[in-house]
Amino acid sequence: MVTPIPRGLMDGLTDIVGDRLSTTPPDRTAYARDLWPRSQLDRLAGDPPERPLAVVWPTSVEEVAALVTLCARERVPIVPFGAGSGVCGGARAVPGGLVIDLKRLKRIRRIDRAAMVVEVEAGFMGERFERTLERHGLTLGHFPSSILCSTVGGWVAARSAGQCSSRYGKIEDMVVDLEVVTGDGRIRRTSQAGGGLDWNQLFIGSEGTLGLITAVTLRVHRQPEARAFRGWRMPTMAAGLDVMRQTMQAGLRPAVMRMYDPVDTLLVGSKDDGKSGGGQLGKLKAILAGTGQLDDLKQAATRRALAAPRLLNFAIRQLPETSLLVTVSEGSPGEARQTDEAIAEYALAAGALDLGERPGRAWMAHRYDVSYKQSKLYRSGCFVDTFEVATTWAGIEPLYDAVRRAVAAEVLVMAHFSHVYPGGCSIYFTFAGTARDPGRMRQRYLRTWREALDATVARGGAIAHHHGAGLSRRSHMVATHGEARRYFAALKAACDPAGILNPGKLFAEEAL
Ligand SMILES: Cc1cc2nc3c(=O)[nH]c(=O)nc-3n(C[C@H](O)[C@H](O)[C@H](O)COP(=O)(O)OP(=O)(O)OC[C@H]3O[C@@H](n4cnc5c(N)ncnc54)[C@H](O)[C@@H]3O)c2cc1C
Repeated sequence: MVTPIPRGLMDGLTDIVGDRLSTTPPDRTAYARDLWPRSQLDRLAGDPPERPLAVVWPTSVEEVAALVTLCARERVPIVPFGAGSGVCGGARAVPGGLVIDLKRLKRIRRIDRAAMVVEVEAGFMGERFERTLERHGLTLGHFPSSILCSTVGGWVAARSAGQCSSRYGKIEDMVVDLEVVTGDGRIRRTSQAGGGLDWNQLFIGSEGTLGLITAVTLRVHRQPEARAFRGWRMPTMAAGLDVMRQTMQAGLRPAVMRMYDPVDTLLVGSKDDGKSGGGQLGKLKAILAGTGQLDDLKQAATRRALAAPRLLNFAIRQLPETSLLVTVSEGSPGEARQTDEAIAEYALAAGALDLGERPGRAWMAHRYDVSYKQSKLYRSGCFVDTFEVATTWAGIEPLYDAVRRAVAAEVLVMAHFSHVYPGGCSIYFTFAGTARDPGRMRQRYLRTWREALDATVARGGAIAHHHGAGLSRRSHMVATHGEARRYFAALKAACDPAGILNPGKLFAEEAL
């Protein structure tokens, strides 16, 4: 069935984008949501997200501006859409709304080698962008695990972080200038004013609520000439955290410093090196795979184990505290070697066992594998999600313990520590659970999120590090932003007077 779309709106849209418009059910279904696991659970519970009225694919900033002007006049909500890899519901459709897919804004406008900046349109896909830079001997240094399925504009809109953020910074550190279409249909450049306030930061992380980003000027770097890989078996998690802190506070900038907690170490170890605690798990998997029974057995065993999360989490706490620390140092050959050697000094002093290059190389080879694994667990009748938070060094272990305790009765929880900075780092929790039916599964999922967010707020942690807020953290935005929500309300009124840009995302409308 084709959606009933007001005649005036349909004519207006067609005038702007011609046949680059769809109202067909498959397109509207595909664009009803991003990769927020809650939407998947809603679907399983027979309550799928509402579909948008239509989807359009503009090819220029002028077309985007005309679309926004039309929607403001007709009071039609807009959801900007990059590649839909967001995991917080930021791009989930708004009923009666229009999805503007920006992927056809995909030109590189300028590569300025003297200034080391590149201007790229917002819809350029991440991995293709990095490969294009590579051909010029350059890198952005931004490698989110979702690089294959996310856009440059989506990175900026969601305040993304790549795997090498300890060396290159997060996306907000890379932006020089933005071209944005605000809710009044005007095309603005953020850097034109100059001096005083930094208007880039207004739109970075605004998740489509203040404007549609159509082009981004980014700082780039020369490709690293050399890399040094290393893995360390840390005697305790605390020892590993201290090595990471010392490294960053000494002014060193390894590209990757990533430590897995004991249970994550067990799972990673089964892929990586056979030395860090997971060798037996890896062998068992290989034998089962040979008999062809791995999938059935794995599904049944996973469901059964996840049905008793408290017991499972308790058993895990009895594991040896050993944690795998993986590092990648890069730059000139001298810099890569010196960084690696300096980390080695801290690690050996902390009683670590040197596992050689292999864990680092294995991590590099599998760095994007995560992107396509989620659906298998859902097929087994389980759910899985991730929850990334951040805090200062002194707060890391208390926050880690508090979140684990808060959700232990609901889900199996594990974590790794990455995105390391002189002041602190992020904790990336993965949790998985199950329940008797999809309705109960959704309730458990929502309880888990609420408890994890409550625990983070209570400990003064940041409730997100790089996934954004979307709908998933909306319930706790007032608790963390307090009165600053009034500034957001004022900005919203100034940038989006008709209130059409991604309404209800970041903050619930009634909270403003
Ligand atoms: C397996 C997996 C791994 C991931 N790993 C990482 C990771 O390592 N680091 C990380 O930071 N994130 C990660 N993410 C999350 C996600 O990829 C990022 O949030 C990414 O930045 C989203 O980009 P996108 O183009 O897909 O945006 P979308 O999902 O389409 O949109 C994200 C939000 O931004 C808005 N938006 C999109 N484009 C624009 C635009 N041009 N102008 C204005 N608003 C816009 C949307 O309305 C929405 O609110 C991961 C996701 C998955 C599924």
